[in-house]
Amino acid sequence: MKLLEDYIRKYGVIREGGVLKVDSFLNHQMDIKLFREMGREWKRLFDGEDINKILTIEASGIGMACIAAEEFGCPVVFAKKSRTKNIAGDVWTAKVESFTHGRTYDVIVSKDFLTEKDRVLIIDDFLAMGSALNGLIRIIKDSGAYLAGAGIAIEKAFQPGGKLIRDMGVRVESLARIADMSVENGITFMD
Ligand code: 5GP
Repeated sequence: MKLLEDYIRKYGVIREGGVLKVDSFLNHQMDIKLFREMGREWKRLFDGEDINKILTIEASGIGMACIAAEEFGCPVVFAKKSRTKNIAGDVWTAKVESFTHGRTYDVIVSKDFLTEKDRVLIIDDFLAMGSALNGLIRIIKDSGAYLAGAGIAIEKAFQPGGKLIRDMGVRVESLARIADMSVENGITFMD
């Protein structure tokens, strides 16, 4: 999606260690006009899938998931990050390793809000190692819901997550795919 690539080129800040900061428009300050265009694009891509629920993960996926949900006309459920050892009964749960924070945590979704009747689209801001997405997929599979696929804003295609998840047979639609990124040479997008 050219608009998102333009934003990344213009406002993205490359950090050492393969981290891209997009705080000025995506995951701290949020550009709602951009989110609207992203939502429309995901709607175009997943049209006909009869999606009745969007699943994301706190915190930075929530804003874009809500705007996308307006296009789909459905609610958003966000997986909560939990540090509690003893997680109470009525939740779906999975472990996620954080690439940016270097730690593991549990994510939980109440069984009240995800059942085998649901047709789910996952929305998230980044795809890097694939751990966050893998956790959400696990939760959807456990719930018996139908998984239409994942709409990702920025895929760092030089990291293994995209291949890992696609090899599982899950449809992944990333609006910007970064082929290469370094402080010295800047950003190259996939064709
Ligand atoms: P994964 O689980 O695929 O390794 O990483 C996905 C999550 O890590 C995303 O939800 C995002 O919060 C965070 N993340 C991964 N790479 C980056 C990055 O380069 N920049 C930012 N801002 N967040 C990232």
